[in-house]
Amino acid sequence: MKKQFERPYIKKIRAGIPSKFGMSVHNEPVTHIDNNPVPELIKQFGSPLFVISEKTLRETYAIEKRAFQTRYPRIQLAWSYKTNYLDAVCRVFHQEGSWAEVVSGFEYDKALGNNVPGSQIIFNGPYKTEEELRKAIGNDSFIHIDHFDELYAIISIAQNSDKKPKVAIRVNMDTGVYPMWDRFGFNYENGEAWDALNRISLDNNLELVGLHTHIGTYMLSTDAYKTAMTKLADLAARVEKKHNKSLKYIDIGGGFASGNTLKGAYYQGRDIVPGFDEYAEAITSALINSELNPSKLPLLILETGRALVDDAGFLLGTVIANKRLSDGRRSTIVDTGVNILFTSFWYEHEIHPAKSTSDHLEETTLYGPLCMNIDVIREAVAFPLLRKGDNFVIKRVGAYNMTQWMQFITYRPNIVLIDMEGKAHLVREAENLDSVRGNERIPDHLK
Ligand SMILES: *Cc1c(COP(=O)(O)O)cnc(C)c1O
Repeated sequence: MKKQFERPYIKKIRAGIPSKFGMSVHNEPVTHIDNNPVPELIKQFGSPLFVISEKTLRETYAIEKRAFQTRYPRIQLAWSYKTNYLDAVCRVFHQEGSWAEVVSGFEYDKALGNNVPGSQIIFNGPYKTEEELRKAIGNDSFIHIDHFDELYAIISIAQNSDKKPKVAIRVNMDTGVYPMWDRFGFNYENGEAWDALNRISLDNNLELVGLHTHIGTYMLSTDAYKTAMTKLADLAARVEKKHNKSLKYIDIGGGFASGNTLKGAYYQGRDIVPGFDEYAEAITSALINSELNPSKLPLLILETGRALVDDAGFLLGTVIANKRLSDGRRSTIVDTGVNILFTSFWYEHEIHPAKSTSDHLEETTLYGPLCMNIDVIREAVAFPLLRKGDNFVIKRVGAYNMTQWMQFITYRPNIVLIDMEGKAHLVREAENLDSVRGNERIPDHLK
């Protein structure tokens, strides 16, 4: 085949001096995902296309489980639905033994629909309707109370019910990471958490089962987890002493960082974020070194979302066009917009061509297909010249994109799960005109 012409250019050699993009710049192609050639996937399922690797999901789960299980005798993972509530993804984690962690009535029903027993659903969040609370109480789910108004609502439901609600409180605290997440749950430092625990402990209609916190997301500090666990264990020890009651569990929430790179960060995320072992070391050492009675140590629950699913998600796309901007910079327009890649607002996503192209990398701006100025996938990335129709792969998009995406200007695309044998399954169909218009109603006078 005839080689395509590529504009020659002069490149300054600066051996040994890091460029804006680090020491040496390569962009290795990502040609396959779990043995499936990228162009084949796009041919079969369209572009853009989300692809989820079941193998990576299960392997990542096993790494986290091992990291905690080798350091603490009793652990339980609870899958954070909002991070990715595709049924196929949830079911992989449930098969691995995960409970469900939900933050709305919708997510609660989704977990039931995935055959999770009510007694393995943790109900978090600042807003649970009375009806949702009744349902969760009836199903023996764990309710994590966010504020006093919710506590009083549950007390009132329990007074007229033969079920004893299983409750925990969410606690927020100063972990040394600012801004502090103090809007959810009861504060540790100002005494509200202790007050709530005493009120619950003195109410015979309620069963106090645990303590919960979720200190933030993409947390780079393992020390923050150590501080959080120290404070939770202190509360649990005080309950043990004052009310002569051992808590069943302490739930340290989620928030572990994935390998993505935050905007403006100097180092690549995958080079600097702590691994599961480091988080596990911080959390479990604070727990086993606490004042808690060693013969009745609580179950340690983890609600890891992002760090479990991000690496398993890929977004495949196609180049629409190239053009030069007014300052001479190259821009490439691609079919993956910010409407389906929400996380591009805070990550510098890794983007690779799907086949080997030129070794010449040039600073390029990657624009999405939307007629909207904010539709920028990467402001400046060292990128080879891809031509119209060429495919590329965006890595680490499994967390939050498939739940926070929006239907805006274009349809949301297909999602495919590649199973352990390398077989691709369509797990969510792309939208179409009917599915988007389905909920609309036209008033008679406009018909
Ligand atoms: C979002 C959320 C999680 C998961 O957080 P990640 O940062 O994705 O790990 C866990 N628990 C609660 C209560 C949450 O709101």
